[in-house]
Amino acid sequence: MQKHNFSAGPAILPNSVIQQAAAAIRDFGGTGLSLIEVSHRGKEFVAVMDRARQLVKDLLMLDDRYEVLFLQGGASLQFAMIPYNLLPEGATAAYLDTGTWAANAIKQARYFGEPDVVASSKADQYAHIPKDFALKANHSYFHFTSNNTIFGTEVHDMDGFVAKASAHDIPVLVDMSSDIFARPIDGKQYGLIYAGAQKNLGAAGTTVVAIRKDLLGSSGRAIPSMLDYAVHIEKDSMFNTPSVFAVYTCMLTMEWILQEGGLSEMEQRNQAKARLLYSEVDRNGLFRGTVAPEDRSLMNATFVPHSPDLEAAFLKACTDAGIVGLKGHRSVGGFRASMYNALPLQSVEVLVDVMKEFERTNG
Ligand code: PMP
Repeated sequence: MQKHNFSAGPAILPNSVIQQAAAAIRDFGGTGLSLIEVSHRGKEFVAVMDRARQLVKDLLMLDDRYEVLFLQGGASLQFAMIPYNLLPEGATAAYLDTGTWAANAIKQARYFGEPDVVASSKADQYAHIPKDFALKANHSYFHFTSNNTIFGTEVHDMDGFVAKASAHDIPVLVDMSSDIFARPIDGKQYGLIYAGAQKNLGAAGTTVVAIRKDLLGSSGRAIPSMLDYAVHIEKDSMFNTPSVFAVYTCMLTMEWILQEGGLSEMEQRNQAKARLLYSEVDRNGLFRGTVAPEDRSLMNATFVPHSPDLEAAFLKACTDAGIVGLKGHRSVGGFRASMYNALPLQSVEVLVDVMKEFERTNG
């Protein structure tokens, strides 16, 4: 049976990427060797790393003030590396608390300085994105999460956030783990962008970091090499052995994005999928969305049944239709449909059909 993969991450990748990655596991670029048994310093893999870094630069419209890295330790390690590298001892930085991952970033920043939580939506179970907050000139940077994977909210007015920071000349640092490359953005408006690969990019095991180089050295600390952006830049993301397979899949996915028409095309497809699903959530008498409509994520749509008794039966109906990964995050329950770039509209149509049929038989 055809599967419809709504998993939150690791998540669906384009079929052609899976095919090419599988082929490279057998024979990497005609070397007669597997991708996962050749030296990362061989010319074939160095070309992959260079190409992957260049593709990130191109897709984010970055210029030579920026460096792109493929690191390890997940987006979670960035929660600590960012303040380690960019928040001086005793200094403060602005953080927006919009969900579990944002809160984790704040927790890690406390090891290094004084995160100033300028706004939080915790009191309403992170059901909206706070927009009415002020930044101050003494904030070393402003950090936020552009898409809250667990709660299903997304910052739609990225430019508005950037403008607040620009007014005080504060660099903007953003966790784009779950919506990188889902829409066009001008990366030059940001000081640092990071994203774990395992949603819109590739296999788990690597994290993309794009950093504006003039920010380096701003913490004034001595930093262990593995945690020092400057060291990774100096070594072209090869200070230690990179996650070769994960980086390779990221490269393939970015090539796929370009072949499919680029980020505007991704955005249009993502909007079409989200429109279809949210309109059914709003129409169907058995379900309701969990977040403020203006902040609804295009990537992770969260919804719950009006009656909790229906949860198990609906998941069973989904499983019967080949739908995978719809169960909400273990911390919030309900349903979460993750609709990353590679998810076809047809999968959303199948989900919507199941919802309609479920209403007919249970309504
Ligand atoms: N930030 C966001 C927005 C996420 O969705 C996740 C993981 N789901 C993380 C950070 C943590 O990523 P990792 O597991 O790669 O550390």
